[in-house]
Amino acid sequence: VTFADLGLGPNVLKAVEEAGYTTPTPIQMEAIPHILSGGDVTGIAQTGTGKTAAFVLPMIHRLARGRARARMPRCLILCPTRELAAQVAENFEKYGKYLKLTMALLIGGVSFKEQEGLLQRGVDVLIATPGRLMDQFERGKLLLMGVDYLIIDEADRMLDMGFIPDIEKIVAKLPPKRQTLLFSATFPTDIQRLAKSFQINPVKIEV
Ligand code: AMP
Repeated sequence: VTFADLGLGPNVLKAVEEAGYTTPTPIQMEAIPHILSGGDVTGIAQTGTGKTAAFVLPMIHRLARGRARARMPRCLILCPTRELAAQVAENFEKYGKYLKLTMALLIGGVSFKEQEGLLQRGVDVLIATPGRLMDQFERGKLLLMGVDYLIIDEADRMLDMGFIPDIEKIVAKLPPKRQTLLFSATFPTDIQRLAKSFQINPVKIEV
């Protein structure tokens, strides 16, 4: 199986090739076709399995069509820490280099001033930690009704850090008609409950 077999477009494939990857990892093999076809995915995978590219690659492919409107991000990615958020952002830059996607970051250590301008103009991808996102949302700095894609990364760490109430508040503001991807290293009952309330007929992939 190659990346091309999974249904990714030529611009994404070119970036993957340049990254030096020849074979998709098991989570990539299973998740990418489902995500490309618009389905919800619950991925139980540790760091090191290639789980970031498993959602970043198909998301870039899907976002390549259509364009962002002012203050309305199209894809929202929630991460537990600023380090992880920055890593996900790097992945979008690396694999999205042949597509003109726009991106903003709402995390500690990144000044909001710069990001505010980007958000105002409209971004394809917004990567955020839940606390930061809630802050800016409550200040009326962004609109969440244009979110077509929600990705929750490292959900079990979010649980450990006490972010679940914030996440529930955020998800309540999103349109119900959206694609939701949830990734977690472990799958405790609190995360199962979250997946059940946020996702529709998700395919569960465990690696
Ligand atoms: P992750 O599980 O997302 O933290 O990724 C772990 C590491 O695997 C990262 O450094 C990626 O650059 C790398 N990686 C992701 N997908 C592949 C692949 N298909 N082949 C080789 N390396 C990969």
